[in-house]
Amino acid sequence: MSNLLADRLNQLEERISAACARAGRTREEVVLVAVSKTHPPETIAEAAALGLRVFGENKVQEARAKIPECPSHLEWHLVGHLQTNKAKYAVELFELIHSVDSEKLIRVLDEEAAKRGKQVNVLLEVNVSGEASKFGLAPDAVKPVLEVANACPRIVVKGLMTMAPLVQDPEKARPYFARLRALRDSLAAETGTPLEHLSMGMSNDFEPAIEEGATMIRIGTLLFGERRKREDE
Ligand SMILES: *Cc1c(COP(=O)(O)O)cnc(C)c1O
Repeated sequence: MSNLLADRLNQLEERISAACARAGRTREEVVLVAVSKTHPPETIAEAAALGLRVFGENKVQEARAKIPECPSHLEWHLVGHLQTNKAKYAVELFELIHSVDSEKLIRVLDEEAAKRGKQVNVLLEVNVSGEASKFGLAPDAVKPVLEVANACPRIVVKGLMTMAPLVQDPEKARPYFARLRALRDSLAAETGTPLEHLSMGMSNDFEPAIEEGATMIRIGTLLFGERRKREDE
C-alpha cells in the first residue's frame, strides 16, 4: 500500500472539507470522482482500498481494457469526449457519462440503451468559456438539446458539466463555474428538469468550483500524480 496515495487523499479531503465549510455546504454534497486515466488497475485497487469508489476515465478503449481488471464494486464515469461509434460500450461500462454534447449522440445512446434494456445517466457538457479548443455545447444550445434528451425514454439528464479554461490562478476559473450554476438554475426552472448535478472543478480549480456549487469534482493529478503523455495527446 503506498503511503503517498493515502497522504495525497488525506490532504485533498482536508481541502474539500474546508471549501465545503466556506460555502456552508456539507462534505456529503460533493462526490469525488477520482480520474484514473493512464493509471493501471493496481493503482485503482489501492485507491479503492483507501475508500474511493467513483472513478473517471476519459477514453472508452482504455476503460474497456481496464475496468474488468479492477475491483468490481466501483462506479465508473466517462469524463472525456464520446464518439457515437463508441456509444454502445459507454452504455455498458459507465454509470454516468459527463460529456454528452450533441443531439446525435443522445439519440444513439438512447437506441443502444433500449437494446440492452438499460437507462443511461448523462450530464450535458457546456463550453462556458467559448474556447474553440473545447468540446461542449454553447450555453444557448443547451436548452434544445435538453428537450431532445427529455423526450428520449432511456436518457436521464442528471445535470451539467464544464471544463474551465486552464489558468494559473484558480480564482480566474470561478466566473465560469458561477455561469454554469446560473445556467443550471434557469434551465431547471424553465424545463422542470431537476439537473441536480454540476460536474465542475479539477485538480487546479476544485475549490472555487465547490464554492460555486459543484456536486462532482473530477480529480486526477492531485491524487495520482502527473500523468505520462500518451501518443494521442
Ligand atoms: C483528465 C481530466 C480531469 C482531471 O484532471 P486533473 O487536472 O489531473 O485533476 C478532469 N476532467 C476531465 C474531463 C479530464 O479529462
